[in-house]
Amino acid sequence: MSTVRNIARGVQSFTSNAFLVDGERSVLVDAGSGFDAVERIEAATGTLDAVALTHTHPDHVGNLESVVEAFDVDVWGFDPDSGFVDHAVADGDGIRIGDEDYEVLHTPGHKDDHVCLYSAAAGALFAGDLVFADGGYGRTDLEEGDHGALLNSLEYLLSSVDSALSTMYVGHGRTVDADPKHHIELARQTARMRA
Ligand SMILES: [Zn+2]
Repeated sequence: MSTVRNIARGVQSFTSNAFLVDGERSVLVDAGSGFDAVERIEAATGTLDAVALTHTHPDHVGNLESVVEAFDVDVWGFDPDSGFVDHAVADGDGIRIGDEDYEVLHTPGHKDDHVCLYSAAAGALFAGDLVFADGGYGRTDLEEGDHGALLNSLEYLLSSVDSALSTMYVGHGRTVDADPKHHIELARQTARMRA
């Protein structure tokens, strides 16, 4: 059974969440920024097999170099030309995280290379900066931001997840462990009103 820990928990500087999933394949989903991720991984599990990125904004990849160096791991992500990614994943691909296979969902709108990672078997979704708790969703005023694309991605995410979804890990703010699908629906509703 995989355990998921947010190693950015309690960090005061501006960072994304960074989820360390242990199990058969220990994976860090996003690296965070501005804190000692290596020390926190050492303290939590001491091992790491891979990093997976939801996207390559600085607050998600700031710690990447130090983590890659310390644990000698490769990085999976959507855009191999970003300079951060060793292994490209495309929409519909599978990626092993912890003890489960996750499906890659390409979900642009916040950034072109944004993906969500979903496992029905684990009941878990890594939503990155597409959607947050309580109907929040990612900014679209940055470079590559596109509100229409974000709305489409929310629709796509809703059509991809099912009632098995029980926990949604998001890029910023709290993890949603009760009825995540409702929180995604709220985000779609809010995003629609601003379209
Ligand atoms: Zn971002």
